[in-house]
Amino acid sequence: MGIVGAGTMGQGIAHVAALHGFEVKLYDVTLAAAQAGKAKIQQNLEVGVSKAKVTAADRDACLARIACTERLEVFSGCELVIEAIPEKLALKQDLFTRLSGLCAPDAILASNTSSLSLTEIAAAATHPTRVVGLHFFNPVHLMKLLEIVRAFQTSDETVEAVKVFGAAIKKELIVVKDSPGFASSRLGVALGLEATRMLEEGVASAADIDRAMKLGYGHPLGPLELGDLVGLDVRLAIAEYLYAETGSPTFRPPQLLKKMVRAGKLGKKSGEGFYTY
Ligand code: NAD
Repeated sequence: MGIVGAGTMGQGIAHVAALHGFEVKLYDVTLAAAQAGKAKIQQNLEVGVSKAKVTAADRDACLARIACTERLEVFSGCELVIEAIPEKLALKQDLFTRLSGLCAPDAILASNTSSLSLTEIAAAATHPTRVVGLHFFNPVHLMKLLEIVRAFQTSDETVEAVKVFGAAIKKELIVVKDSPGFASSRLGVALGLEATRMLEEGVASAADIDRAMKLGYGHPLGPLELGDLVGLDVRLAIAEYLYAETGSPTFRPPQLLKKMVRAGKLGKKSGEGFYTY
């Protein structure tokens, strides 16, 4: 299989797939970027070894199955290619057009998009029935869920094939139709935006809003903490997209979220968001 993009998600997908026996070609725009991705996988595997979750032999076998590349042509023999490049429709469409020209007609081309329309991405491929969403969660080697997203064009055969893949890498699967935000982001973002509005209205402190969900509903993280982890700029971009697509006031970005992003308070990565790090 091939993975396009060796950033946060591409690394995680490569890690999990190789650990479960798949031969992975890991592509990025430069060989150095692909190698940096593989180095990060090695670091994560070392943590697994130190916690006795991964054996040293499995770590070595996993790394030996990951080949780094900056040449997309090496994907010509792949049965499955998963892309994890930046969340920009034009970029993903261009990639799917290029992959269509390189891969076998029966290869499955998958996108890890967290919010874009799979149907629009599939439209750029020569064989759109073989295009599907494989939405992984960060960190991929720890999160159990894999959301399979059916584009309007995706065939039943393609869905069945990726279910086999998902089971082989030991993920829990859900299948959703292509619709704005799928199942996970639609619900998760709705909760995060409502929590932000509650903070804006002074209903409770950020910590208490998060405690309400953690202690009352058993969520491992509160909606505001999760926003800080994902990045408030990322959350705002998804909210704007969902609002534009659905017109639903549920997704109208709260002023507080906009102001925080404009002020550079992006969450954990900038040192400050709803909390200070
Ligand atoms: P990232 O920025 O960490 O990694 C993107 C990688 O793609 C980088 O290594 C970059 O060099 C490479 N890249 C850029 N342009 C490219 C191109 N034209 N061709 C090939 N590679 C290219 O991003 P990420 O967080 O891994 O996100 C990737 C995708 O996964 C996005 O669609 C995002 O929405 C989705 N996603 C992210 C998360 C998350 O929590 N980070 C969760 C689920 C889904």
